[in-house]
Amino acid sequence: MKSFEYARPETEAEAVAFLGEVESTAILAGGTDLTSLLRAELVTPARVVDLKRIPSLHEVTKVDDGIQIGSLVTLEDLAKHSLLSNYRSLFDVVDGVRAIQVQGSGTLGGDLCHLPNCWYFRSRYGLLAMENGESLPEAGDNRYHAILGNSGPAKFVNASRFAPALIAWGAHVRVIGPAPEQAEWLPLEYFYVTPRSNAQGNTILKPGQLISHVWLPDAGRLASATYEVMQMEGLDWPMASAAATLKLESGIIRQASIVMGHVAPVPWVAQEASRLLIGQPLNEETASVAADTAVTRATPMSMNEYKVQLARTAVKRALLKAADQSPV
Ligand SMILES: Cc1cc2nc3c(=O)[nH]c(=O)nc-3n(C[C@H](O)[C@H](O)[C@H](O)COP(=O)(O)OP(=O)(O)OC[C@H]3O[C@@H](n4cnc5c(N)ncnc54)[C@H](O)[C@@H]3O)c2cc1C
Repeated sequence: MKSFEYARPETEAEAVAFLGEVESTAILAGGTDLTSLLRAELVTPARVVDLKRIPSLHEVTKVDDGIQIGSLVTLEDLAKHSLLSNYRSLFDVVDGVRAIQVQGSGTLGGDLCHLPNCWYFRSRYGLLAMENGESLPEAGDNRYHAILGNSGPAKFVNASRFAPALIAWGAHVRVIGPAPEQAEWLPLEYFYVTPRSNAQGNTILKPGQLISHVWLPDAGRLASATYEVMQMEGLDWPMASAAATLKLESGIIRQASIVMGHVAPVPWVAQEASRLLIGQPLNEETASVAADTAVTRATPMSMNEYKVQLARTAVKRALLKAADQSPV
């Protein structure tokens, strides 16, 4: 591991200042992935800025129109917090992370900014995984790569497990920096980027910026669920997932939002599938039609055709699970 300076700010403003002082920095939250990235020298910052001592980033608070969650809230705290008990799709994600150590130290911000698990990226070929002008995922083993949004050079899948559920809830993120006092709220859906170059990164974050909070609208009478298709019972990454948020009135869908995970370089919003559910009852048949629609435009690679069926199953099961949890 290359040596680096270590900074431990106590306020959000101090964190932004520490990030702005040197050119290459890395943000440390729970550290469950960053420590591996540092050890493998996949990131080689001059300074690591540890956010753990900033109290405002650990808070979950009720605000006028919803709930504000600090980016350092751990998976475990998220699942236990009484203000979040009606957001079942988030609880489903925590439940799916089968390691109490990760639940206790992994954070919401760390999950949202988790770099791709693509094995070419993790073997130092960059986000686009190119060698001598050739796409390694296209030429080689692509069994865990994208089946949607993969027509450009990016073939990895977004690693975040919470992003599909949060986007389906209409979450916004607060990005602070790089200038002191600079803060902007934006829909989480627009936070992710499908890069066309390695330098572009996979989020809109620029050097000196970080996520401070996530905002969720009031749960009201909405129901939600996440369904992740896992290969192993233990700690693993989903091969495909889907989150659904629904409003049902007298058994008829009035509002629907479906977002898929681990199928594209960004969380994949299944707009058409969501739209066609409006005005329908939710049952096996309508859930199947929505699931088929969600994957209609899939363009699997040479070894990952199987993921199309997994994604379809995830959408159908997330919808049926959400409907089961709908308030009567
Ligand atoms: C051995 C091991 C295996 C694991 N395997 C799995 C697995 O199979 N499945 C699974 O779901 N999880 C797994 N995890 C956990 C995984 O790392 C989590 O997704 C966790 O939520 C990351 O959170 P963190 O706070 O530890 O992130 P960190 O490691 O601290 O950060 C992750 C990334 O996000 C950036 N970052 C963090 N916070 C912010 C912020 N607020 N703003 C901007 N950037 C930020 C960091 O710079 C870094 O690039 C594993 C962890 C370990 C240690």
